[in-house]
Amino acid sequence: MPLGEFELIQRFFASAGACRDDVVLGVGDDAALVVPPPGVEIALAADAIVEGVHFPAGLDAEAIGHRVLAVNLSDLAAMGAEPAWALLSLTLPRSDSAWLEGFTRGLDALARRSGIALVGGDTTSGPLAAVVSVAGLVPRGQALRRSGARPGDWIYVSGAPGEAAAGLAVLQGSLPRPAAAERLVSRFRLPEPRLALGNALRGVASACIDVSDGLAADLGKLCAASGVGARLEVASLPVSAALVEVAGADATRLCLAGGDDYELLFAVPGDRVGDLPELGVTLTRIGRVVAGAGVEIVGEVRGEGPLGGYDHFLKEGRTTTARGLGGPSQ
Ligand SMILES: [Mg+2]
Repeated sequence: MPLGEFELIQRFFASAGACRDDVVLGVGDDAALVVPPPGVEIALAADAIVEGVHFPAGLDAEAIGHRVLAVNLSDLAAMGAEPAWALLSLTLPRSDSAWLEGFTRGLDALARRSGIALVGGDTTSGPLAAVVSVAGLVPRGQALRRSGARPGDWIYVSGAPGEAAAGLAVLQGSLPRPAAAERLVSRFRLPEPRLALGNALRGVASACIDVSDGLAADLGKLCAASGVGARLEVASLPVSAALVEVAGADATRLCLAGGDDYELLFAVPGDRVGDLPELGVTLTRIGRVVAGAGVEIVGEVRGEGPLGGYDHFLKEGRTTTARGLGGPSQ
């Protein structure tokens, strides 16, 4: 028998706020009550994921529950904020207990691991979509921003960008599925927000953004916010062996333009490079901040298509300029 909204919230979401003692009142009243510690700023972010736009129809419920929280936690990571509280608005075609169990399993596991409490939300019927709003805590004046990069700073990225986009292509059947593809599929299904890294970059990185729309596009946003340009070296990109095995000649293009990775992309002044944290996640130096504007991509990128990343309204690449495309490395 389908559950009503009240039963659904009680059964699946009422316990998820129990993991923090600064939650005075969680799910079940008109609003939640929380007590922020002294001396912090509260970082707020909200991101929606919609079936057919952010994930393919038929993606398993556990992955959807994980992803909707992960994309928001990634924004907190990019600010150097520590996760605290979350709100969920879920739109479902029907109240399906098995689906909700999967969704809650994915969301809860990541929430507990990240120390974030689900303190409220809403469920409605309609096409499948989930919106999470998060609040994170950061010591006053210490948040990472997009706007602090200066000419001469080195540019770094964590992990192996492009793997998630390739994983999505594998799920959609447009790339093959050898054994190496399972790693890529899991990078799309269960992206890992780089919370510990973001935290450790406070006071070290001069600017930071998370890679959601594509490495080149998001570097363009960081540069625009900082009033600088960047030179990005294709030969330095961390194109993973799994990505090359599955995507072949398109691997480098996916690394530059593929979205959904939720890695951190950041600038570091030369005299702070020695302070970069060692946290078991690969950090790769991929270029340098320069005076001017725009992202210059130095080196050859094979394959077709824009490098500027995804824009929901333009549906094509934007301002990134790519010199040296199709030619020899410079
Ligand atoms: Mg972001």
